[in-house]
Amino acid sequence: MTQIRTADLTKTFADAGGGVTALDALTLTIEDGEFFALLGPSGCGKTTLLRTLAGLETPSSGAVYIGEADMTRTPAGKRGVAMVFQDYALFPHMTVTENIAYPLRVRGVPKAQQREAVLAAAADLGLTGTDTTVGLLDRRPEALSGGQQQRVALARATAAKPSVFLFDEPLSNLDARLRLEARTFLKRLQRELAVTTVFVTHDQAEALALADRIAVMQSGRIRQLGTPREVYRRPANTFVASFIGSTPMNLLEGVVRDGRVLVADSEIAPPDGTGERLAERAAVVLGARPEYFRVSPDPLDGAFRGTVEVAENLGSSLLLTLDVSGTAVQVVVAEEDEPEPRATVWALPRADRTLLYADG
Ligand code: ADP
Ligand code: MG
Repeated sequence: MTQIRTADLTKTFADAGGGVTALDALTLTIEDGEFFALLGPSGCGKTTLLRTLAGLETPSSGAVYIGEADMTRTPAGKRGVAMVFQDYALFPHMTVTENIAYPLRVRGVPKAQQREAVLAAAADLGLTGTDTTVGLLDRRPEALSGGQQQRVALARATAAKPSVFLFDEPLSNLDARLRLEARTFLKRLQRELAVTTVFVTHDQAEALALADRIAVMQSGRIRQLGTPREVYRRPANTFVASFIGSTPMNLLEGVVRDGRVLVADSEIAPPDGTGERLAERAAVVLGARPEYFRVSPDPLDGAFRGTVEVAENLGSSLLLTLDVSGTAVQVVVAEEDEPEPRATVWALPRADRTLLYADG
């Protein structure tokens, strides 16, 4: 049973300007066996949180619990965690075998047992047994591809049989195709080993694909914590709304009038469940994902009326940028529904997928 808990975790770094708060009273529980993603833009504190969990960074205040124990002051080597870094951090002067065995050697595990664990981990990670991997275990990291180095780093993490995996953007140095393969592979590995995993990424697609739950971070705080479906469907605020989704959500400033939301001269039907709550003349932000529009050449009630400015091919669909009285609204349409350039269209956001924010 390895639950991870932080309580009011704060980390400030001294700098020329008087200090940076990398973690701001962060309280969080990660469940046993969970695949947990920390997602957020560069500089929001993801690596600092991971390093603090690992014991590589000492918090300014607050506590870290791993399992039942308060490990706030426990040295990194004694926490039962294994970390995989973005650049893999393999030892260049050691062979693959020596790299994987390293954490075991440090712990004084007998040689024969080290050998056994290395072979098992290497096999799990697909580093043995095929024509292309013959002799791989005796190579140095420089003689490996990026994908192979990444697997060695993972093998080193698994060989030590940790109770927690900490991954800091482990896929970001792979090219796009390999990254997708490695993603599936990592998910399968985590399922099989059922080890509590904290996975840091700035890539929202990666977090959505891999995680049981996601914490979306900004400036050392958690802005939303939920399942991939929850953060995608119901982003709690405009920050999360703008960060999650492969095409950015439309976030449109408007004002409430007669039970409708007036945005750029279009009167939009209110999202489901908001009708009674709308205060007349309240300033709001309407959140509508481009994927959830009905687009028609004929007038639709409660829809945006706009002209097609740009059509971008997304493969099986098109991303249209509409000019709605000077405001850009993006909608996705099927490839067979491509309108003429400069055509006037009506775009109706799905009321059950549209959100209304008062924080804009
Ligand atoms: P992320 O991993 O989300 O990109 P980091 O945790 O690396 O973010 O950094 C969070 C903030 O803390 C940033 O403003 C960064 O500049 C600062 N920071 C991180 N490590 C140090 C350090 N060792 N010294 C000073 N500032 C740091
Ligand atoms: Mg980082």
